[in-house]
Amino acid sequence: MQSILFVSHCILNTAAKVVLYNQAEIDAEEQLRRRFVGRALETGVQLIQLPCPEFTLYGARRWGHVSDQFDNPFFRDHCRRILEPVLQQMEEYLACGERFEVLGVVGVDGSPSCGVDYTCTADWYGSFEGRQGLDETLASCQLVRRPGVFMRVLTEMLAERGWQDRVAVRSLFAPEPDKCLGLLPAD
Ligand code: SF4
Repeated sequence: MQSILFVSHCILNTAAKVVLYNQAEIDAEEQLRRRFVGRALETGVQLIQLPCPEFTLYGARRWGHVSDQFDNPFFRDHCRRILEPVLQQMEEYLACGERFEVLGVVGVDGSPSCGVDYTCTADWYGSFEGRQGLDETLASCQLVRRPGVFMRVLTEMLAERGWQDRVAVRSLFAPEPDKCLGLLPAD
């Protein structure tokens, strides 16, 4: 029996991430990422990389966004389209239950797209040029307890297929490491 885990793209490829500047947060996430991926490999878990919805729409030079900006029909449709082939793969693994065990999906908390329990929110829009109160606008960003847009679309697609109880959706989040580590087999 092989164990299969679907993971957000940047859990295996941090080059896709938006450029970040908070070194303490970067270090904490990287430490957990290495622990999580290392343990997955050591325990023989097969990792399937989800597509990155932001890189595939906005590329490597994108700004940091909040979930409110991505919560529109166009971005949600993009998420749905790039997830469709992944869910076809998942369907096949679930259909061959005597050979494969689907452990679940792991997102990245805090992301406007891949957050599972937490995402970032603010009333952000518009150009920066000549803008009054830009610092206050940027500082209004908050971590809130709800999923990012990509993970919300994914959970909707799981529910449409009746798989919501078969596929656990968890997240990599440095302050709460057990959420992702708990999906892996014990050492
Ligand atoms: S959108 Fe998701 S996969 Fe892409 S960089 Fe952000 S957290 Fe990672």
